[in-house]
Amino acid sequence: MNRHTHVADVIALLQRVSTRHPPAVLASSFGAEDMVLTDLIARLALPITVFTLDTGRLPEETYALIDRVRERYDIAVEVHYPDVRALEDYVRANGVNAFYRSVELRRRCCAIRKTAPLARALAGRGAWITGQRRAQSLTRSDIAMAEFDAEHGLPKFNPLAEWNEDDVWSYIASHDVPVNPLHARGYPSIGCAPCTRAIEPGEDIRAGRWWWEDPEQRECGLHRHSVHVAVRAVQAET
Ligand code: SF4
Repeated sequence: MNRHTHVADVIALLQRVSTRHPPAVLASSFGAEDMVLTDLIARLALPITVFTLDTGRLPEETYALIDRVRERYDIAVEVHYPDVRALEDYVRANGVNAFYRSVELRRRCCAIRKTAPLARALAGRGAWITGQRRAQSLTRSDIAMAEFDAEHGLPKFNPLAEWNEDDVWSYIASHDVPVNPLHARGYPSIGCAPCTRAIEPGEDIRAGRWWWEDPEQRECGLHRHSVHVAVRAVQAET
């Protein structure tokens, strides 16, 4: 499949999702893949809302990019925040950087700062779209283009599931898409500042996320409950 067909397929999928599953949303962390999808959504004026989760610990470069996207594309970006009381209780009991101390504390931090706000962001939506790719990591090697997210009770689409890194960066270069400057400093995957580091050449793309944990535990819970057995049903529906 050539790159032109790749892009045409993604456009066709985004159009079908926006038409058949309104209101559809793109969950963006403003990584390179999310920027490809944002560019397509904005250029084609698709009725898909872009939202992000502000954990309160994002790198300054990500905050700057959120504003740059608003200006460049003239689109509103929905920003969802953690529940203040839950966050205050967690920090009071465990300190501000407790995520380094254990997997359990790290997961609780992700639950408060990411998973709970995600559930609020998805409530009442018809479908959600992500920029996940199979080649990104061990934990994403089996993601499908179309899934059913049983936890949130709605279809979930990963239009770039089959793309490789070259596909992403080729699209970005040819469409002059703004990207997070951290990518050029060795950060292929960008999350919260204290939990993301640059990677060395040859390392797994997500090796810089929660690098102190085992590779199979390195997800934040945002994508854990998609049910792949429902793929055919969802595909047929799209
Ligand atoms: Fe907390 Fe780190 Fe998870 Fe961000 S990535 S929510 S700082 S544990």
